[in-house]
Amino acid sequence: MSFDYDLFVIGGGSGGVRAARVAAGETGAKVGLAEEDRYGGTCVIRGCVPKKLMVFASEYSGMVEDAQAYGWDITPGAFSWEAFRGKLHAELDRLEGIYRRLLANSGVDSFDARAKLVDAHTVELSDGSRKTAKHILIATGGWPTVPEFPGSDLAITSNEIFNLDTLPESILIVGGGYIASEFAGIMNGLGVKTTQFYRGPQILRGFDEEARGVIAEGMVEAGVNLRLNTNVVSMREEGGKIRVTDTDGKEQLFDKVMYATGRAPNADNLGLEELGIERGRNGAIVVDQYSQTGVPSVYAIGDVTDRVNLTPVAIREGMAFVETVFKGNPTSPDHDLIPTAIFTQPEMGTVGLSEEDARAQEEIEVYATTFKPMQQSFAGRAQRVLMKLVVSKASRKVLGCHIVAPGAGEMIQLAGIAVKMGATKEDFDRTVAVHPTMSEELVTLKTPVRTA
Ligand code: NDP
Repeated sequence: MSFDYDLFVIGGGSGGVRAARVAAGETGAKVGLAEEDRYGGTCVIRGCVPKKLMVFASEYSGMVEDAQAYGWDITPGAFSWEAFRGKLHAELDRLEGIYRRLLANSGVDSFDARAKLVDAHTVELSDGSRKTAKHILIATGGWPTVPEFPGSDLAITSNEIFNLDTLPESILIVGGGYIASEFAGIMNGLGVKTTQFYRGPQILRGFDEEARGVIAEGMVEAGVNLRLNTNVVSMREEGGKIRVTDTDGKEQLFDKVMYATGRAPNADNLGLEELGIERGRNGAIVVDQYSQTGVPSVYAIGDVTDRVNLTPVAIREGMAFVETVFKGNPTSPDHDLIPTAIFTQPEMGTVGLSEEDARAQEEIEVYATTFKPMQQSFAGRAQRVLMKLVVSKASRKVLGCHIVAPGAGEMIQLAGIAVKMGATKEDFDRTVAVHPTMSEELVTLKTPVRTA
């Protein structure tokens, strides 16, 4: 049977674009790709990239004060959201163009359309045309979810935050995960009066408890009004603002309310049910270790499969798919020991097990130090940083490395190599310190602070 394409990809985000262009460029496969929105997907258009640029923008207020402390005769001026937003969107347009060109240069046919499955080898585009393919890859990502409660339609999500006409004077951010905690820091840094509600006892559930504490402390010190064990009961519009009633019975007015209470796989109305493709927790497409669904010609990668929802992981899953299906070399993406950064202020870099998870698994030693880093300490604006290693007593392997510090994301990429290689505490110790740096503490931690 002959098909229009060897591969048809639904979704032009990080995972889909990588799989399409590697399949076409490296294996000569005939590839089509449909994207209903903007190329680049969540990461490039409304996630990692604009978020990080906003983190950079928000960090300058503190830098001016630091520069003054270092003797510079400069005064902080006002932040212009309009000026920044214009540059931000020009940058996103540029990046989208690059994504489109990458596909075209690899010989991929791209369609600006929504696609859905009609049968195991056919997709239908929103213009009504149909394309057949030997393999279909679903890489449709995820979408923010807002719980239903009175007034929930007044909330914005991370999708809208990059497009605000004006910067609000005050904002309530609801949630305690990556997105909520990152945006609390961003908004606070940009001079917005920022309140964050989290329903549990500490933000960033699932990460190392000590690290979470240091981050929360730093955020509060920086000016975020962090209210733990608090949730929204209802919201209503009042004179262009939003009146929020919370679980403590308090009422407060905010210019904007942003919900970051999780994301759901984008798998509705794709024709999956009709084909008998199984959906699991949170509506995710169920796949095996090769990203294959129950219908052998249909694969899925990235956030739509709700495995580890990170751009570099979606890219790895896409590469493993191409390796398996187009290079005849069955390869499962490796989801073990993934280093990751959370761009809170202060920033966290983490790889491996938290102290709590490691302790539940085996006997451990914990090596940790907190201190005020030189650069900010000199300027009198220091937030505590944390350098922490969780070590197996039996194998001496470093099971987890947790860093809360300026530049922690950059540091953990490198520490992640050592941890992934199975480095022991003694391997860290025999590495000479780079002095004076913050990360040198990782190789000079002499005695455990706890054993368990
Ligand atoms: P998360 O799942 O990380 O966090 C959701 C937060 O909202 C949790 O604190 C959760 O509380 C809370 N929550 C859930 N439901 C409700 C509710 N009904 N009412 C109040 N609070 C609620 O989701 P995010 O949206 O922050 O991020 C989504 C994903 O995006 C992440 O898992 C991550 O993989 C990815 N991401 C990664 C980034 C990075 O690498 N730096 C940055 C941004 C996103 P509880 O803990 O109690 O369940």
